[in-house]
Amino acid sequence: MEKLSNELSAYREQRFRAIEENLRVIRDNIAKAAVKSGRAPEDIRLMAVTKTVEPCFINHCLHQGVDLMGENRVQEYLGKKDELDLDGVEVHLIGHLQTNKVKQIIREVSMIQSVDSVKLATEISKQAVKNNLTMSVLLEVNVGEEASKSGMLYEAVPDLCAEISELPNLKIEGLMAIPPMEAEEAELRGYFSCMNKLFVDMGRQSKDNVNMKILSMGMSADYALAIEEGANLVRVGSSLFGARIY
Ligand SMILES: *Cc1c(COP(=O)(O)O)cnc(C)c1O
Repeated sequence: MEKLSNELSAYREQRFRAIEENLRVIRDNIAKAAVKSGRAPEDIRLMAVTKTVEPCFINHCLHQGVDLMGENRVQEYLGKKDELDLDGVEVHLIGHLQTNKVKQIIREVSMIQSVDSVKLATEISKQAVKNNLTMSVLLEVNVGEEASKSGMLYEAVPDLCAEISELPNLKIEGLMAIPPMEAEEAELRGYFSCMNKLFVDMGRQSKDNVNMKILSMGMSADYALAIEEGANLVRVGSSLFGARIY
């Protein structure tokens, strides 16, 4: 029994050290990419993506000064949130959200990054009104036009944004994208720079309830590229916590 718990705590300690080291590398890469794109390191926000990660490891990461975390699934987040040290930490929902789950999550996160339809935005607005709060959202763009992915089609974003901006108790704060997994570097750059163009263009048109300030793109494999092409929020999971075990 004692042997088992010693091994467990050795395993934990090892993972804690790995998270610290990973974080150091990631922050360094973020800083370099920021400078390369003419910005300051602190202009880029790092989100720890915590799906499948146990609370003790999430907390260890948060204790290193990471102040933003993203979860994909409503149920998973609700199941572990009470074990998290969320003082001073912002939580965003980043996974596909079904309309029937909105009411369970509306009071639990400060932003929903995965708004992919007017229907979903309408439900978020409705629940925000009911709960007397304003919800910040990003519009998710299916930049690779993949059938397997949710997100708005690139060309449709300005019109859908105009429609969504009419809804009460919502604030549109930017765009989010996940480019195709298999894309190579040049292709990825293309997707990221298209996103940045849309982000900048839409930012020029001022509208009530629309304030284009967040461009959320880049994950473990490509966050430095994404920053070089204009991202100011990167969502990093496996490079930080290790490979996910489902
Ligand atoms: C899982 C996930 C990430 C992080 O992916 P990694 O490759 O592990 O960094 C980022 N964004 C979204 C929407 C995700 O679902």
